[in-house]
Amino acid sequence: MKKIAVIGCGAAGMMAALAAAQSSASVTVFEKNEKPGKKIYITGKGRCNVTNACDVTDFFGHVKRNPRFLYSAVYGYDNSAVMDFFENNGCKLKVERGDRVFPVSDHSSDIIRTLYNAVKKAGVKVVFDTEVLSVESCEGVVSAITYAKSGDPITREEFDGVIVCTGGVSYPSTGSTGDGYKFAKELGHSLVKPVPSLVPFVIEEEWCKDLQGLSLKNVGLKLFLSKDENDKPSVKKKKADKPVYDGFGEMLFTHFGVSGPLVLTASCHYEENAKGKLLLDLKPALTEEQLDKRILRDFEGAINKQFKNALGGLFPTKLIPVMIKLSGIDPEKAVHDITKEERQGLVKLIKSVPMTVVGTRNFNEAIITRGGINVKEIDPSTMESKMVKGLFFAGEVLDIDAETGGFNLQVAWSTGYLAGESAGTIS
Ligand SMILES: Cc1cc2nc3c(=O)[nH]c(=O)nc-3n(C[C@H](O)[C@H](O)[C@H](O)COP(=O)(O)OP(=O)(O)OC[C@H]3O[C@@H](n4cnc5c(N)ncnc54)[C@H](O)[C@@H]3O)c2cc1C
Repeated sequence: MKKIAVIGCGAAGMMAALAAAQSSASVTVFEKNEKPGKKIYITGKGRCNVTNACDVTDFFGHVKRNPRFLYSAVYGYDNSAVMDFFENNGCKLKVERGDRVFPVSDHSSDIIRTLYNAVKKAGVKVVFDTEVLSVESCEGVVSAITYAKSGDPITREEFDGVIVCTGGVSYPSTGSTGDGYKFAKELGHSLVKPVPSLVPFVIEEEWCKDLQGLSLKNVGLKLFLSKDENDKPSVKKKKADKPVYDGFGEMLFTHFGVSGPLVLTASCHYEENAKGKLLLDLKPALTEEQLDKRILRDFEGAINKQFKNALGGLFPTKLIPVMIKLSGIDPEKAVHDITKEERQGLVKLIKSVPMTVVGTRNFNEAIITRGGINVKEIDPSTMESKMVKGLFFAGEVLDIDAETGGFNLQVAWSTGYLAGESAGTIS
């Protein structure tokens, strides 16, 4: 019987342990936290968007880095398999807007409990409060790990296979502190620089801060990238003219800039060191012409009012002073004195409020880590390292990241399952 160590008792680790145990391996999971799935607990605002019920062929379009690497893993254990697993193990699921799948109970703890119970039932040994310190290899074959339980001396234990499921570096308080990157580097693997993704933007314009707390629904957002002042060649000229993201939804102003679902999705397309420009469309359902007519109507009904008192029908109250300032129109001006050019300028502004992205927030606020173990060095049909036999990787530790909507957990389930199944049957 093969002896397999799984490092990390998160989504990928539990799925890998289960699949390895089902392949008749003797499996031990090492987790530095005191309980399983600390990150799963906070997913989907505590509800856990466990996967996405989209057609599996559409899945890859939502994966931003290295979707093709995932073909074997996802086709081998897809979103239907994940849904069947939870349903068959007593955790009923429901599908919401955008094909997002959640537990009927709306409690992420039910996902953790179902998975952990299945892991235990399969005979897996799980050791908590135990940090893996290193992974050893001998002549190109994985040989052992060292680990320490809090307060205890370091232990060295031999294994036939090791599956690294340590996650990325986002929300490090959940235990994902990049240890897997260290193990991989020590064993000769290269790393694609980890950067925060699905993360809020820091905005240069001071007026954003005045809008702190304001949430906007049904707005459009475009992200453009241009070269930074040092003229870094990373962002090609054509990218500056075409939006790298064009979406619709909900966003939020904060004390540093912008956040909310629309912004987080846009951040998948942001490139570090690039100067980003956001154009916010406050009335995406109207063309410029339709909006101009609408404003004309509003102005006709407020012909003797001052400009500052004629915008109540167009914007939330908090936004009015900012829009007045950005429009450059004198707030005291009587509506009947506003020129056609001024009105058309206002229309253009409403359709594309400009904001300058100076960067993103850090890993503490990033839903996902972009970058990680270079997938060119991993066999996509097994998740085994091409450099060290018996060494496997799964989940967010890999250089794979996807949009919100349950896709990142599906990556963890699919790669975890494949890594576990492969490790359990190594020769
Ligand atoms: C706030 C938030 C909300 C999210 N919501 C969703 C969502 O609704 N849907 C979705 O699809 N994705 C969501 N994600 C992303 C998703 O949670 C992750 O992509 C996924 O959990 C990654 O799983 P993983 O097993 O690879 O890593 P992790 O979940 O990070 O697990 C890694 C585990 O390894 C352990 N570990 C690390 N180093 C060691 C070591 N040296 N020794 C022992 N143990 C170690 C850690 O303690 C941790 O438990 C969300 C993420 C965040 C932060």
